[in-house]
Amino acid sequence: MDKSKFHLITYNWLFVLFVFLFLHFWQGISVGYIIMLVAAYLLILAAGSMFFRWNFYLNAIHHGSRRIKQVALTFDDGPSDKTEAILNILQKEEAPATFFIKGENSTSLRKIVRRVYDEGHLLGNHSFSHNVRFTFQSKKKVIKDLESAAKAIERITGKKSRFFRPPYGVTNPEIAKAVSELGFTVVGWSVRSFDTKYKSPEKLLSRLKQKTKAGDIVLLHDYPDVTLKILPDYIQWLKQNDFQIVSLKKLINKKAYA
Ligand SMILES: [Zn+2]
Repeated sequence: MDKSKFHLITYNWLFVLFVFLFLHFWQGISVGYIIMLVAAYLLILAAGSMFFRWNFYLNAIHHGSRRIKQVALTFDDGPSDKTEAILNILQKEEAPATFFIKGENSTSLRKIVRRVYDEGHLLGNHSFSHNVRFTFQSKKKVIKDLESAAKAIERITGKKSRFFRPPYGVTNPEIAKAVSELGFTVVGWSVRSFDTKYKSPEKLLSRLKQKTKAGDIVLLHDYPDVTLKILPDYIQWLKQNDFQIVSLKKLINKKAYA
């Protein structure tokens, strides 16, 4: 495994810390400098967790080639009672998509997961529990959770999903180690729709039109009403502007299943 930015920063930081400690004990510089150095390090670690696109703890793929006018649509946090309505729109528009599902939801909505798969869309792992606790677990527990989610998909489709998107896009060293051991391809996004926050379809659609460019991976969710409302218009707009909607595996040129 390549050394992550986290490792490189930590090694360099330890070196600087050592120098500061030396200066403190032998040259008498203020302990305040050491406190500041520790605080700056902790701040960088926290930011590295929050800002998924930094690829701080692990290398995720956030977009495809910027030279080809293609985009991939992704829907997180389903399946839900709205997923079928999303599937109907995608079917009508002949648009492929990827669903990063919550393992927990799929156990009660197996039929919907099966329909997603049967209609040629991809299924990705978005953890089993998708709660805040997931982010603060040990590597062992993260692996257990991700394996439960993988099994949930496999039981319904017979396929082992290779795509993983971390809940909330939050990463840390434990998640990075777990993902590397399990051999997942980690997939982020380059257009965040904020469809769980926007109430106005007009504003959401205008944001998407403004942000979408060649190679983008678009992050949507398959439960907000507002997403259902704008999806046909967004797809029409993409087509009118010569964007080809392709499956995620084609956009990033990676295998979706083992
Ligand atoms: Zn999510």
